[in-house]
Amino acid sequence: MNKLRNNVRENILSLTAYSSARDQYSQKQGIFLDANENPYGKLNRYPDPYQNQIKDLLSSYKNTNKENIFIGNGSDQVIDLAFRIFCNPEKDNALTFSPTYGMYQVTADINNVSLTTLPLNIDFQLDRKKTFPYLADDNTKLILLCSPNNPTGNLIPKKDIIYLIENFNGIVLVDEAYIEFALEGSALQLIDTYPNLIVAQTLSKAWALAGARIGIAYSNPYTISLFNKTKPPYNVSALNQKAACKALKRTSAYLKRKNQILKEKGKLYKALNKLDVVQKIYPSQANFFLVKFKNASAIYLSLIDLGIITRDRSNQVTDCLRITVGTKKENQQLINALKKQA
Ligand code: PMP
Repeated sequence: MNKLRNNVRENILSLTAYSSARDQYSQKQGIFLDANENPYGKLNRYPDPYQNQIKDLLSSYKNTNKENIFIGNGSDQVIDLAFRIFCNPEKDNALTFSPTYGMYQVTADINNVSLTTLPLNIDFQLDRKKTFPYLADDNTKLILLCSPNNPTGNLIPKKDIIYLIENFNGIVLVDEAYIEFALEGSALQLIDTYPNLIVAQTLSKAWALAGARIGIAYSNPYTISLFNKTKPPYNVSALNQKAACKALKRTSAYLKRKNQILKEKGKLYKALNKLDVVQKIYPSQANFFLVKFKNASAIYLSLIDLGIITRDRSNQVTDCLRITVGTKKENQQLINALKKQA
């Protein structure tokens, strides 16, 4: 645990967390005259600052303890808090691997922390040798690893994740925003073994709740306590907590929708594969494909003209669009539009 504490910024270690009205008195019954709330209305009360109901549901669904769970306002908040807790601005640095999710760079920039980006190899996998100097640098405090990776779709094998965790004194944050679409490969069960691991997940993708902004960090109770003390007091609204609980109780609806997406994903792959304009479809364990075209930017624009919006990732991987798996009808419309591109 000392090793872990050494990574925490001094100001966070010594921080006296804000004590909200609900921290001071957390029971449900009473005449509440303590939080300057309005006594009238339906959304007049502040929400549970620790999102206990969501955590109860998640802990049984994921078979993990509540003390291992932090709920963020989207996993973007989890990523931001990791920078704030572990990286001293202008002094420490963080490490990630490209191409990857663009918010790592933006969040590093906002926090004034230098982010080193090492290129993944041709199969979008880690080149361990390139990481050596950073694993040994005492000022490298945080590694951000995305698996399945956005925008490439591939998983990073668990042996590579373990390699980083075991050979690094800092924190490894594995961003598993798309993990439910993968058949295997979550690092979640490793949190009990490795105190320097944080696994970030989200209800935005497979759980179909991007609008509700529910992100999750799984880690050891000490790290979770640091997230709790650093977050804004009421970081997830009552409406969003309710939406999350509703979704987490309807696991059969979740599984049905997810399986539908996976089925459509298989069909979309086959249809894309037959098109002359498509040069390569990268293997994907997520709900999207990275697809290489002869002239991706021209195709992107002509799809827009037809009302079909994909994500041009050519600046990250030459001539590639990232295409999300939609409904059967949406995918068919995409294929029809691409057939006209020849
Ligand atoms: N991580 C990755 C890899 C993502 O692609 C995204 C969203 N596109 C996020 C995190 C943020 O997700 P959330 O909606 O939970 O903030």
